[in-house]
Amino acid sequence: MLQTSLEFLKREFFKYYYENIDRLVPPEPIRNREFGFFLEKGKGMFRHKCFNSLRDFHEFILSEIPLDIYVSAANYEDPGNRDMSEKKLVNAELFFDIDVEPVNAVSDEEAAWICQKCGQYDIGLKERCPSCGSPTELVRLLSEKQLREALGETEKLIHVLIEDLGIAPDNTHVFYSGNRGYHVHINQEDFLNITGEGRREIIDYLLIQGLDEKELLNILRRGVSIENISLKGVKKRVYMRILEKAGSVEKLKASRRETVLKMLEDVVEELKVRIDPVVTIDVHRLMRMPESINSNSGMVKRRIRLEDLSSFKPLEEAIAFGDEEACLKVKIAPKFSLGGRTFGPFKDEEVELPVYAAIYIICKGLGEYAGG
Ligand SMILES: [Zn+2]
Repeated sequence: MLQTSLEFLKREFFKYYYENIDRLVPPEPIRNREFGFFLEKGKGMFRHKCFNSLRDFHEFILSEIPLDIYVSAANYEDPGNRDMSEKKLVNAELFFDIDVEPVNAVSDEEAAWICQKCGQYDIGLKERCPSCGSPTELVRLLSEKQLREALGETEKLIHVLIEDLGIAPDNTHVFYSGNRGYHVHINQEDFLNITGEGRREIIDYLLIQGLDEKELLNILRRGVSIENISLKGVKKRVYMRILEKAGSVEKLKASRRETVLKMLEDVVEELKVRIDPVVTIDVHRLMRMPESINSNSGMVKRRIRLEDLSSFKPLEEAIAFGDEEACLKVKIAPKFSLGGRTFGPFKDEEVELPVYAAIYIICKGLGEYAGG
């Protein structure tokens, strides 16, 4: 990123934070949390930072204008200590991250590629560089389809957390991450002290891991009813769903082995919630700060009310910047949608874009600021 682009970004980030600073409220008590920041592009994270008050935190943000802001899921006695074991963990929120794999572009103009070897690039779908024959890297912008898929997984996760694990809807906080997925934070007293072991159990339950399929298949085919077996956790979850689909224990018993096996496979696929287990297991994890800007896209990690979840439109509702025109020198960008409008495709051209779209392209590393 050129210096002029970085200055443009910092100017616009400052405007956003100046106008929205009251939306940035870390969980209480603020003095027990560790904070982390990316202050400059390409430099490491500045972490182990702590604040005594909300006012100090806000002052820091308005004076430093960080590119990214993080807060610990954990409460510590001494959050500013650089030695993790000396921080003295008190407890930690449960934190889930759902990202889905990028989907393939449907049309040629929605794709672009770059060759990392010889530097060529163009609009379109090409797996190999036409100049040097090396494998190309596809330019991935956010797609509505991909984000809808992630939203579907998030709804699935919330359903399980509330219905199966007994988490109160009021303690379930959902956010669009500002880039490729969704975050769910659980701030409920009886879940704050869950250890590594308990967290692993929750992860297994969500990912349907550690299921002895042979054993379960035997139980299902023998037609054992739930009262006569002591199934729990993930096994019970799968058993109950299969029973529901089959209609009754008798019907299961009468089914062919292949039929039951197929059912088992389908149900595992249906129930699995694609969380990132690494994030949930780590109690020392730093979470992106709600309502802060994600510098991988220039969009906001936006809080979503549970009742608005199914109709949430990330590419419209998580925009941080205005629509005044900015001039941008775009290297390469496939056609993309943002803020209810469609842009591009662009190649080696200077274009006028609304500030929010210009910042998106800069954050994705595909263009540089060329004046306002
Ligand atoms: Zn090449």
